[in-house]
Amino acid sequence: MNEYDVVIIGAGLAGLTAARELEAQGVPRVLVLEARDRVGGRVQAVEFGGRVLQRGAEFTGGFHTDLLALAAELGMSAVPLPERSGRSVRVSGWTRTEESAPFETDPESAAEYVSAYARLEEMAAEVQADAPWEAPRARVWDDARFADWLNENVTRPAVRERILLDFPVDAEQISLLAMVWRISRYNSTKGLGGFDMRFAEGLAEVAARLAAGLTSEIRLSSAVRALDQGPDGVRVSYDGGTTTADRVISTLEPSIVSRIAIAPALPAARLALQNRWLAYHGSKLFAIYERPFWREQGLSGVASGSLPAEYVMDVSVPGSTEGILCGRRPVSPGRWARNPRSAELFFDELVGDPERMERAYIAQLVEYFGPEAADYTAFHYVDWFDDGWSAGCGSLHLPPGVLSTVGKNVREPVGRLHWAGADTGEQDGLGGAVQSGRRAAREVADALTAIHPEPLDDVDARVSFDRR
Ligand SMILES: Cc1cc2nc3c(=O)[nH]c(=O)nc-3n(C[C@H](O)[C@H](O)[C@H](O)COP(=O)(O)OP(=O)(O)OC[C@H]3O[C@@H](n4cnc5c(N)ncnc54)[C@H](O)[C@@H]3O)c2cc1C
Repeated sequence: MNEYDVVIIGAGLAGLTAARELEAQGVPRVLVLEARDRVGGRVQAVEFGGRVLQRGAEFTGGFHTDLLALAAELGMSAVPLPERSGRSVRVSGWTRTEESAPFETDPESAAEYVSAYARLEEMAAEVQADAPWEAPRARVWDDARFADWLNENVTRPAVRERILLDFPVDAEQISLLAMVWRISRYNSTKGLGGFDMRFAEGLAEVAARLAAGLTSEIRLSSAVRALDQGPDGVRVSYDGGTTTADRVISTLEPSIVSRIAIAPALPAARLALQNRWLAYHGSKLFAIYERPFWREQGLSGVASGSLPAEYVMDVSVPGSTEGILCGRRPVSPGRWARNPRSAELFFDELVGDPERMERAYIAQLVEYFGPEAADYTAFHYVDWFDDGWSAGCGSLHLPPGVLSTVGKNVREPVGRLHWAGADTGEQDGLGGAVQSGRRAAREVADALTAIHPEPLDDVDARVSFDRR
């Protein structure tokens, strides 16, 4: 008899939700193994100078239906982001523009922008969020890069640039099908603008409450190193021990699954998928001010441009008098290479040099918001690319020719090994993590009861099941 019914690898939102759902389904022996010394995965709050910052994910939106429902069960609700109603700033080439809507003073560009989004929206309607490889034009769209589509369908460089800034994806790398899938997972083409809510208590509180409500055991600092599938179960080797389980749920990003030694080897199609899964770094640059001075100028705090700080937003903490501007560095190093101003200062080269990074970031904020941006009180920088247990922000990033051919392996179980995690979800980001955790847990619970239909908390039933 195996020691556990299910071992879950990873205590991020997907893993914790899977454990909660398995408990709800009556599966009694569940173990969660987590490599880090904390739960939450890419959801983490850090205390910095007396204030709490969300080091990883922070924002949600109405399309994250599973996350919002789960949060409500945990007694939490999302609130709108601060002051998103003001004008945003866009810097294109040498020109700085303040606008309430994209290209509001340039009707032709505005029309092209709106029509590009309408076309993307139409394409997304043809792509099922749970099976993009089945879309009627899947192969055709998967042969192209998103950059090709943009070049063919959007004539104005400033409009192309703005669309690229709306989505943290590398258009030169991602296939058109993968991009359209992403949009169908957002259930909207609003891109980052769709992330217009967050939790007043911070997202990390969702993970903390989830973990606190579990009866399943969570072992921290227990990185899984090897999985060995046999006829009776899976042997799981991790830092600190070895155990056995009837089923295993991995919640790892596809691109880091290969860090675990898995025997027998995964099917070639699954390997082809995870080996070509790209990740982008996931950086956050925080500048803290005595007050959100930009609001006095009627600005929302949202700024974007083909510059090293390519996207900035107001993440001031609700109830605090301080103002906080949070930015991200470009998704790929070459993204703005053709802009000479950007090429002067690639943030990627400054990653190991926090002081120069700080100076460069503040200089960019001055460009976006004026000289008052130089009067910051603190700076904080985080980057997940070298974190060891994440590949980065992890947004869906599949190059041409992958999704339409081997994409379906993203959540197809391999023997007793099941897949969860944000990338396997039908919603993007956090919503996908929660939704995938539930889906994988039900899949496993069904598999266990299909083999033996009696209730799983009946010990005799488990014994006979294990002797099958
Ligand atoms: C900077 C940043 C900002 C983001 N912002 C947003 C946002 O605003 N909104 C949004 O929707 N999404 C955002 N995301 C993405 C979001 O964080 C993820 O989609 C979501 O948290 C993924 O949850 P998960 O459980 O699938 O994966 P993870 O949170 O990555 O959980 C996987 C867990 O597995 C553990 N693990 C890894 N290897 C092993 C091993 N060998 N053994 C045991 N455990 C292991 C990891 O430590 C981790 O805890 C952001 C991500 C980053 C990095």
